[in-house]
Amino acid sequence: MKTILIDGRWQAAQDERTIDVIDPSNAKVFSSISRGGEADVKLAVDAARRALSGPWGKMTATERGRLLQKLGELILANAEEIAQLEARDTGKPITVARNDVKVVARYFEFYGTAADKIHGETIPYLEGYNVSLVRVPHGVTAHIIPWNYPAQMFGRSLAPALAMGNATVLKPSEDACLSGIKIAELAIEAGFPPGALNLVTGYGHEAGAALTAHPGIDFATFTGSPEVGVMVQEATARNHVACVLELGGKSPQIVFEDVDFDKALPVIVKAITQNAGQTCSAGSRLLVQESIYDKFVAAVAERFKAVTVGTPEMDLDCGPIVNKKQYDRVRKFISEAVESGVPLLAEGAFGKDLPADGYFVKPAFFGRVPRDHRLACKEVFGPVLSAIPFKDEEDAIELANATEFGLAAGIWTENGGRQARVSQRVLSGQVFINCYGAGGGVELPFGGVKKSGHGREKGLLALEEMSTTKTVVHYYK
Ligand code: NAD
Repeated sequence: MKTILIDGRWQAAQDERTIDVIDPSNAKVFSSISRGGEADVKLAVDAARRALSGPWGKMTATERGRLLQKLGELILANAEEIAQLEARDTGKPITVARNDVKVVARYFEFYGTAADKIHGETIPYLEGYNVSLVRVPHGVTAHIIPWNYPAQMFGRSLAPALAMGNATVLKPSEDACLSGIKIAELAIEAGFPPGALNLVTGYGHEAGAALTAHPGIDFATFTGSPEVGVMVQEATARNHVACVLELGGKSPQIVFEDVDFDKALPVIVKAITQNAGQTCSAGSRLLVQESIYDKFVAAVAERFKAVTVGTPEMDLDCGPIVNKKQYDRVRKFISEAVESGVPLLAEGAFGKDLPADGYFVKPAFFGRVPRDHRLACKEVFGPVLSAIPFKDEEDAIELANATEFGLAAGIWTENGGRQARVSQRVLSGQVFINCYGAGGGVELPFGGVKKSGHGREKGLLALEEMSTTKTVVHYYK
């Protein structure tokens, strides 16, 4: 399959190598993608550079916005095909994949309608001068996205960059990129000029590393693991290129004794089992006030037992883990916790007749996890929830802030003063009060503090990230 898009044309890797695409539900190869490398990245960056001085660079913001909206419409018109690709590639339940496709269409609609509403400023200065602050694209932007929400990430990363007039090169994850390839095909159909959107499939250490180190890029945005985030920042720093990093999390759900059980329970269970826990903002730590700990945790355990795991077509709560490496990693977290004596309070269940070799893991709920245990501090990136008791508000805040991450947090209390105090002191990029919003929320700026990364995607703030300013000083006397 020719899956590299450069200058509006699909091509194989320069050295014609390929990568097998594996179905996580049965570990069988069902397709292949081109294994792009340094030579392909160079061609893609050159094409993007040319696009900036070609038809793409000359388009008005309104015209760019219309193209984005058209792409959003085409995504919806082809929604079922994209959802089927996404489900097969990642293993996620088909209903979840269908929803993800709606979200990616929404990204193109949101940023398409915003493209011509980002204005500059004028600055009062000396007599005889007009000074304007003009918002301009970075130029060539590099986009590296992970496998957990490939379609959503495609829209989240590219739509604001294209809306601001950048020419883009995207390197999707080698583990799941089929939906992105289809959406890139639709971008050509929508009429994006050659070179505006280039796609290089391949491995991270090859195509990804070549892209972030390329001296021809002007900006980079990366979503993935904290370890690779460091590599990306080092590579871009060598060319003095700024980057946005969206990394991992260990997000707390902080449950106070006045919690409304009925409101909180379904949301809390979904926040860790959604996408089989492979969500950067998964609510993976359940912090519960000691006075209600046993009662609340027992109610969570009851619901956990009802969570079911199956193939995309079975359309249960969770699918398999995306690949063998992550599968082994998640299972190791679970077995080590059991061996070290952490109480396993509940497990989800497998659906009937699962394929033998699929990467299925039963969601696991652990109680009274010691505060310094690996499970309480490290990101599992799987359906594993750790409950930890706290004494009072002060203790809750200290515990919530006790990891190296800070991506999202949930606060569950009916007390208004407490809602305000805790939300102010929790260190994270997003805070949810009596709700939780992993995924979706196109309008809501998203990103982390501490080792969860820096910079913001989503919402109108992403348009600022994906552009820079030029100060124009005009002397008219
Ligand atoms: P990963 O860091 O291994 O891969 C992410 C992307 O980076 C992939 O496209 C990969 O090919 C590429 N890559 C790998 N090595 C590279 C290198 N040396 N140079 C450039 N690119 C390289 O992460 P993953 O396994 O795909 O995803 C899991 C991790 O991502 C988890 O830790 C999770 O928390 C994080 N994540 C964060 C967010 C977020 O929005 N903050 C979203 C999804 C996943």
